[in-house]
Amino acid sequence: MSSFSNLQLAPELARAVAEMGYESMTPIQAEAIPVVLSGRDVMGAAQTGTGKTAAFSLPLLQRLLKHENTSTSPARHPVRALVLLPTRELADQVAQQVKLYAQYTNLRSAVVFGGMDMKPQTIELKKGVEVLVATPGRLLDHIEAKNVVLNQVEYVVLDEADRMLDIGFLPDLQRILSFLPKQRTTLLFSATFSTEIKRLAGSYLQDPVTIEVARPNETASTVIQQFFSVGDEDKRRALKSIIKQNKIGQAFVFVNSKLGCARLARSLEQDGLKTTALHGDKSQDERLKALEAFKRGDVDLLICTDVAARGLDIKDVPAVFNFDLPFNAEDYVHRIGRTGRAGASGLAVSFVSASDQRLVVDIEKMLKKKIEILPMEFEDEFRREASRGPRRETRDSRESREPSDTRPTRERRPFHDDDHRGHSTKDASHTPSSWSASRYGSRSNSAPKDPFFDKPYEATVSPDQAPSWEVAEKPTSRSISANIKPKRKVAALFKPEEV
Ligand code: AMP
Repeated sequence: MSSFSNLQLAPELARAVAEMGYESMTPIQAEAIPVVLSGRDVMGAAQTGTGKTAAFSLPLLQRLLKHENTSTSPARHPVRALVLLPTRELADQVAQQVKLYAQYTNLRSAVVFGGMDMKPQTIELKKGVEVLVATPGRLLDHIEAKNVVLNQVEYVVLDEADRMLDIGFLPDLQRILSFLPKQRTTLLFSATFSTEIKRLAGSYLQDPVTIEVARPNETASTVIQQFFSVGDEDKRRALKSIIKQNKIGQAFVFVNSKLGCARLARSLEQDGLKTTALHGDKSQDERLKALEAFKRGDVDLLICTDVAARGLDIKDVPAVFNFDLPFNAEDYVHRIGRTGRAGASGLAVSFVSASDQRLVVDIEKMLKKKIEILPMEFEDEFRREASRGPRRETRDSRESREPSDTRPTRERRPFHDDDHRGHSTKDASHTPSSWSASRYGSRSNSAPKDPFFDKPYEATVSPDQAPSWEVAEKPTSRSISANIKPKRKVAALFKPEEV
């Protein structure tokens, strides 16, 4: 175990680390901190939760200490380090950590992200800050409004770079990087080193040291993974049934679209579950409130999209549901990483519908395991309901509200294999997946009464916006950044690979 004392951090930083209660460095910290202190560029494969924020913040702050001063003149506090992240939540989290690490220094830090009034951010920027944490879209707004100048930046961190590219931030990143001095240190962190990430690194990093601390496609061994074949119409019922059977107190439920997220949250709320939706259309304030409510235990189910949930540092969520299988196998790993963290055991349940075959194959490749998909067996009560047709009772939808005594308890108990009927990939026999139609759940034969759910699907974004499944920041809607190009597919923006 490497200790922070080996690093000879400045007393101000060492004090902050000690107060955080960190006893030893995490692997990414042990590897990256000395490299960043030496001034080299870094290409790091590390996910949120590995301690990578401290891995780049501490050496960066240490190297910036030579500039610290107590002057009130903004000119004496130019931006020296820029940290870019894909989402508001991540930017907020990282900025909070940077503030803590820098609390005993005279270095100033600030965060800017979209979905919030620009004015308070502008006031802070104009006072001068040495470390600026930002999402790309809002940073460009401030650059264009001349609220910030980046010509004295010495360090730039591209954090969660794979996600920034997924979202379509490449043009924004290229533009931001064009404002920075050529002489600088660039640190790039990404969950995976895809071809696109390697190209990005090839364009912007100089002779980087590659640091890979954990294979990105490794799922926590403490997570029990189950896959059930469930028709789209039965997913909600399946979700409630599994929650009830396993007495799940709290869970994350992942869906692929913002609209799906809002609809599911609304319908589960009608079923009597305490539910909150977390997606890119929610205001920053709403998103932070939703998170806080979940952390307090006031919310049972957090229904979320990938971008909204990426990197949320909520540990020990008893269960994660993939209500929709992710389009991207890597997102499967990110999603189920919410449970079984920090040594706690967790349950990850995925619903597989008839059209998901390719997605399952992708996940199998990523996990290097065959996935067995079990038929969803509803409790007798549910089965009877399904065969009987529409209810006679006065309840407002076919999916009855759970009586209050069967509501999920808050109890968080550890999961064991024999608690579950589904198959666990922990003890996966290498049975090939079966894709016969008969394995899929039966269609329910009644329609919900709420007219909201009877509406046909409506696309919420125009074709020139970011991918339909999520938008983290919306440069196209920014009024003062008219010259920023609309987002385009990442792959199309790179030159063809050289051979
Ligand atoms: P990160 O991956 O940077 O988001 O960090 C995840 C969590 O780990 C944060 O809550 C940090 O405060 C915490 N953390 C970072 N470094 C250490 C360490 N060396 N020891 C214990 N906890 C840490």
